[in-house]
Amino acid sequence: MTTRFDQAPWAAAGVQTVQPGVHRVPLPLPNDGLHAVNVYLLEDLDDDGGIVMIDGGWAIPEARKTLEAALGAIERDPGDISHILVTHIHRDHYTQAVELRRLLGSRVYLGAGERPGLEMLDRLRSDQPVGSLRTLRAAGAGELADRVEAMDHGGYDPSVWEAPDRWLQAGALRFGDRELRVVPTPGHTKGHVVFLDEQRGLLFSGDHVLPHITPSIGFELAEPGGHPLADYLDSLRLMTRYADARLLPAHGPVADSTHTRVAELLAHHDDRLARSLAALGEDTLDAHAVARKLAWTRRAVPFGELTAFNQMLAVHETAAHLDVLVLRGQVTAARADGVHRYTRMR
Ligand SMILES: [Zn+2]
Repeated sequence: MTTRFDQAPWAAAGVQTVQPGVHRVPLPLPNDGLHAVNVYLLEDLDDDGGIVMIDGGWAIPEARKTLEAALGAIERDPGDISHILVTHIHRDHYTQAVELRRLLGSRVYLGAGERPGLEMLDRLRSDQPVGSLRTLRAAGAGELADRVEAMDHGGYDPSVWEAPDRWLQAGALRFGDRELRVVPTPGHTKGHVVFLDEQRGLLFSGDHVLPHITPSIGFELAEPGGHPLADYLDSLRLMTRYADARLLPAHGPVADSTHTRVAELLAHHDDRLARSLAALGEDTLDAHAVARKLAWTRRAVPFGELTAFNQMLAVHETAAHLDVLVLRGQVTAARADGVHRYTRMR
């Protein structure tokens, strides 16, 4: 295996000052797939001299240590973190925010669209991605669902899934005379939000717009359903209604233009929609069968060579594309024995 640094220079520990008072800090993750998660430290938003942090990181001891070292490098303390704005509910973004609140008293914010999912998680008290398992079974991948279910998910820890101090709606979030615009961008998760700093021309995009990879669609810890890809494509197009901004993503390096990357992502999904339709051919197939006919990741890996977790994401992704084809009237879907099967319209 190549080293992290060779694979992803952006993920190397340290502080990148994007603009005076705006710092990118990559934090480690317990698994190597995404290399790191960026959190951003904003020094000059809070009138009281506090730091506004965007995304929290995954609550593991190495992430805390890395964050503390980064704060030291800019001559600040963890106690300076006054607000933590989280883009979405996934573990690598939310869990350390809750932990930092317990330690430091920071206020935690999360998009209101994550509320039903978080409340369901609290009722289920399960470390299983229950919603995603249900999606897998409906996609004809029951055996894969059994394998994912048998995996060690690290145990359910209710202390990292506490509710935020405030649920965010669309609109301006004021800090003294400065503001960030909260823009709901459902798709990657139902309640994903991005934070737009219009004065400085910066977009804190979370996992909505990533510079090198396409975010997974429809991996919900709790409640599945809806039309995650249709929502995602709408949320991508929504970005072009605002002035272009530098892209400050949660995974990957800072990029110059959000609009350029949005156009690439829209083109990518057009291509995947066409390939999904072609893979369906003249047959009636479930999403699992279609996923097995497609190549995955930028390296065009066969489905069978993906890990069980990535097979799960690939099946979600395929189901999401087939559902968009249904919405567009190119494919019909029928449900039998709890499984959705798709047929091309003639
Ligand atoms: Zn992420």
